[in-house]
Amino acid sequence: MTATLTETSAPAPAPAPSAAAAPAGPLDDARSQLAEAAQVLGLSDGMQRMLATPRREVTVSIPLRRDDGSQDLLIGHRVQHNFSRGPAKGGIRYSPHVDLDEVRALAMWMTWKCALLDVPYGGAKGGVRIDPRAYSTAELERVTRRFTSEILPLIGPERDIPAPDIGTDENTMAWMMDTYSVNHGHTVLGVVTGKPVALGGSLGRASSTSRGVVDVALAALESRGLAPDSTTAAVQGFGKVGRGAARFLAEAGVRVTAVSDQYGAVVGTSGLDVDALEAHVDATGTVVGFDGADEIDGAALLELDVDLLVPAAVEGVLTAENAPRVRARVVVEGANGPTTPEADAILADAGALVVPDILANAGGVVVSYFEWVQANQAYWWTLPEVEARLRERMLGAWTAVREYATSRDLSLRTAATAMAVERVATAHRLRGLYP
Ligand code: GLU
Repeated sequence: MTATLTETSAPAPAPAPSAAAAPAGPLDDARSQLAEAAQVLGLSDGMQRMLATPRREVTVSIPLRRDDGSQDLLIGHRVQHNFSRGPAKGGIRYSPHVDLDEVRALAMWMTWKCALLDVPYGGAKGGVRIDPRAYSTAELERVTRRFTSEILPLIGPERDIPAPDIGTDENTMAWMMDTYSVNHGHTVLGVVTGKPVALGGSLGRASSTSRGVVDVALAALESRGLAPDSTTAAVQGFGKVGRGAARFLAEAGVRVTAVSDQYGAVVGTSGLDVDALEAHVDATGTVVGFDGADEIDGAALLELDVDLLVPAAVEGVLTAENAPRVRARVVVEGANGPTTPEADAILADAGALVVPDILANAGGVVVSYFEWVQANQAYWWTLPEVEARLRERMLGAWTAVREYATSRDLSLRTAATAMAVERVATAHRLRGLYP
């Protein structure tokens, strides 16, 4: 293996747990959620600190030859939060906002998500600080291949399995798989998931996160006595997760009255025509300008008078500042980390039901697991098989989290996190400490 790790260091241990720490970003939010779960479980300080700290992390520089001949330098990270239950697993994000603490938080959430859905993985996340819209496809391919070669010693079907996230897609995964395979001298399909179907990807993977979000959202609405055809919804984000969520909600009979993307939001109180909206987005690249809807500020979407709110964009959008104005009765987190702990407390006091990310958006990694299983066995499942197995897992996890929460008088987030943390802690204890 020829890849060089330009900077590798033992991850800095998490600070000692403190209930008084003021959350300030996704990593603080993730650690505060862990602290709450640890308290429910009565975990020792030592176990909590181990679980708050990534097991391994690497920062690499990515020199890039631009199409105009100039040279750029990008920074990338891969953080493996935990592998007590199996290989690390999690997406690769391309965004100008990527930083190491964000990747650490996202990696921790992956560990809990995989444990909660009982897929045999730990958690990881990667990211490159780049605005992919400002680069050509050829440049993005060079970035991806160089980043992959820099993290090559860390990844592999039995070590750490990347997947798409914000700003990356099935093409990114095809380049990663090819770069890894070329360096190993043979094709290794199981090194990444979210690949094109023509290249060992799973049927149903592309829509799996949205399908899972909607499976759980409909169950959550039902638990509040809300039938789909008498329910309104607003969806923040119209990318891989939000777009499919809007479509599947509409197919289930829910009136989707507002959607947004990074350019703005559109609202139509009698319900948006999601097919026409998708055609508009395909033609223009944004929901803005959609005929027959009014334009509103993107942030205002979160405060609309709807039954269901699906934040499906980025972390930290529901905060202490805007949570008091959120009117949705049910919030289903399509994004990772959209609700800060302060906002969680405000929404709980107001009687809103928040279905946490590690449950609500787990459909993506569940079908990633199906894809990895299929690749390892070289045996392909049909779309109905994939979708039925996904729904069974999502609804099973929803029921288990709800029962755990109800029997212990916990929020769904604390229940889901505690269930996941307990599984990881148990695996860690059973394996013991080496040496
Ligand atoms: N990026 C997705 C997530 O946050 C999918 C990860 C995966 O499939 O490994 O859950």
